[in-house]
Amino acid sequence: MKRPNVDAIIRPDFKFEDMGIGGLDNEFTSIFRRAFASRIFPPALVEKLGIQHVKGMLLYGPPGTGKTLIARQIGKMLNAKEPKIVNGPEILSKYVGSSEENIRNLFKDAEAEYKQKGDASSLHIIIFDELDSIFKQRGSRGDGTGVADNVVNQLLAKMDGVDQLNNILVIGMTNRRDLIDEALLRPGRFEVQVEIHLPDEEGRNQILEIKTKKMRDNGALASDVDLHKLAKLTKNFSGAELEGLVKSATSFALSRHIKVGTVGQIKGDWKDVVVNMDCFLNALN
Ligand code: ATP
Repeated sequence: MKRPNVDAIIRPDFKFEDMGIGGLDNEFTSIFRRAFASRIFPPALVEKLGIQHVKGMLLYGPPGTGKTLIARQIGKMLNAKEPKIVNGPEILSKYVGSSEENIRNLFKDAEAEYKQKGDASSLHIIIFDELDSIFKQRGSRGDGTGVADNVVNQLLAKMDGVDQLNNILVIGMTNRRDLIDEALLRPGRFEVQVEIHLPDEEGRNQILEIKTKKMRDNGALASDVDLHKLAKLTKNFSGAELEGLVKSATSFALSRHIKVGTVGQIKGDWKDVVVNMDCFLNALN
């Protein structure tokens, strides 16, 4: 992963190599260029010039491509508060009757801190997972409650109202960009939109490197495992599916060492258990 040129806002002890994100260099650079450029300036200058930081960003793309992972790592890198993660369907079903209040509560801490400190020096991130599930139900009052409409209106009111706050970034995530109402994408709302693609061959190779690193460091990955070849064989796999492949290969390696008729008793020495290329190829079939 290339380090974006934003040292002024990155936590000094943040280690890029520990981020665990593979194959998303371009997306990452685009996110920083478009959503965080203004945060590089000293807060006092931002105040003086009345600059509005980007307060909403939409990450969209197929499932399991690392959208949540990116959002979390951005928070860590910028030394933001632990992100508040809200799941779309959950907010509609679990909190019926108090959904609007829940949305308001999400913004409370950031608002209080801004009032106290008077600047945007510490960032609060709110992540809306499965954003489309809220918006696609907008206007449909089939359940008789109009909960989705209230949630959307409250969220928009809050985002429109943080003009002066500058210390909040709302990250929306969706697999269905086409279901997101255009009104949400205008400036001041989810104005930066970045597509997170399925990884290409190089990206898949990087993800496989990341997901097998611990095994390799511990001597549990056989030398015949050819990650380049596996990257070639896994066209259209998402990061989540590659992670699944590594897990399946590991299970396969273990199953070969289980004594027949026992529940988990290892044949021979457990130190002999290694994951080899054959395990990966079996996991692929
Ligand atoms: P969804 O749209 O289904 O919510 P998502 O895009 O938010 O999925 P994540 O939850 O970030 O995907 O990733 C799912 C799993 O796959 C995680 O365990 C994550 O570590 C892994 N993963 C996905 N993409 C990558 C990647 N590019 N690099 C490393 N790990 C990845």
